[in-house]
Amino acid sequence: MFPELLRRAVFWGYDFSKGSLIAGHISDLKRVFANPQDSQQLAKQRLDNILNHACETTRFYKQFKGASLKDFPVIQKQTVKENYEDFFSSKYDRKNLVSTTTSGSYGTPFKFYQTKDKRARHTAEVIFFNGWAGYRVGMRYAQVRVYPRSKWLLFMQNGALMNPSTIDERWLEQQRQSLKSQKIRFIIGYPSAVGPLAEYCRMKGDRPDDFLIEGIITGAESLTSVAKEKLEEVFGGMVLDRYSSNEFGVMSHECAKCKTHHINIGSHKLELLAIDRDEPAEAGAVGRIVVTDYFSHAMPLIRYDTGDLARLGPECKCGLSIPTLKNIEGRTIEVLYDPDGRMVNAIVFDRETKDLEGILRFQMIQKSRDGYVCRLHVMPSFQQGDLIRERFQQALGPDAKITYEYVDSIPPLPSGKRPYVINEYKKL
Ligand SMILES: [Zn+2]
Repeated sequence: MFPELLRRAVFWGYDFSKGSLIAGHISDLKRVFANPQDSQQLAKQRLDNILNHACETTRFYKQFKGASLKDFPVIQKQTVKENYEDFFSSKYDRKNLVSTTTSGSYGTPFKFYQTKDKRARHTAEVIFFNGWAGYRVGMRYAQVRVYPRSKWLLFMQNGALMNPSTIDERWLEQQRQSLKSQKIRFIIGYPSAVGPLAEYCRMKGDRPDDFLIEGIITGAESLTSVAKEKLEEVFGGMVLDRYSSNEFGVMSHECAKCKTHHINIGSHKLELLAIDRDEPAEAGAVGRIVVTDYFSHAMPLIRYDTGDLARLGPECKCGLSIPTLKNIEGRTIEVLYDPDGRMVNAIVFDRETKDLEGILRFQMIQKSRDGYVCRLHVMPSFQQGDLIRERFQQALGPDAKITYEYVDSIPPLPSGKRPYVINEYKKL
């Protein structure tokens, strides 16, 4: 086994040979987060630069030359798809770019092109923010996701891939063993995969002393407080949540001190816009997360509607005066309606299962006004079926017709996510 220090040296040596792109961006992020006051000015410069660059080198933004940010159109994935060629900057040859596939739960994915510098920025963000949970390059870590971003990076950074396409008991036992035998010290993954793994290990009697885990980073789905507590209880270590995407990199990250999500002001401008119009959301209200990327020079993305929702968070208590977000949710983390049309949030179901033993995962699907299917993936020892029926019935009301299905695995959506609730009846 390649020791950690050697691996770290080789990683940074390789980056150095390529012009220290990643190291340079890490220094930049360190500066931004060490001096938030000066960073306001820097952010303004970066915004002006990308707006100018977009207007001067792309057909789509040509007509907005000189406009201020609020006069740029809010775009969606669909806008990029329909005007695909017009989003390319004339400054770059596509041969020299790297591509990444769009994320998001629905719709056909397509390719975004990025400069090597943007890609290095993304890698730097991941390394920098992982550091908030104690990570250092070279540390043995497990990545619980379907595809690695790069096999090379995975190797150099000493990663083990745990592919969660099928989360059944066999998979859970295998991962439990590898966490121990491979001396995994850091985990990065979806809550819907890492959560069941924690519950499985807990049911097998494992506690933090049985592992060497120092930190866990979750992302792509919202991490409920129930799930977070369970991860801390079983694995120990610092559990932090990250808001990121393939196209944009890390947009906000939970802080180890104040536990709120700090916006990555060094890389993006994030706006929260009202649900139904392109104006700022009211103070404290839920808004659409609309992002402008300072580093997407190959395909400038200005005021891109991510499809996710959040509220502006409180001023943080950690002393880092950088704006915060709270309640970040994908719009696809849907709400259900009871038969009388009242909204029932996914968190209600999550809370109702908090004290039950042996539930690995559940998924509640609304099929009609009063028809629901609840998929349950449980340990063989699970004995609280009656209790869960009683509670879910109460959550949805006496008129709800809920069918229960016991399954060996809950398949992910094309995005790799496994939402707690899916509304097939009425879309938000
Ligand atoms: Zn903080």
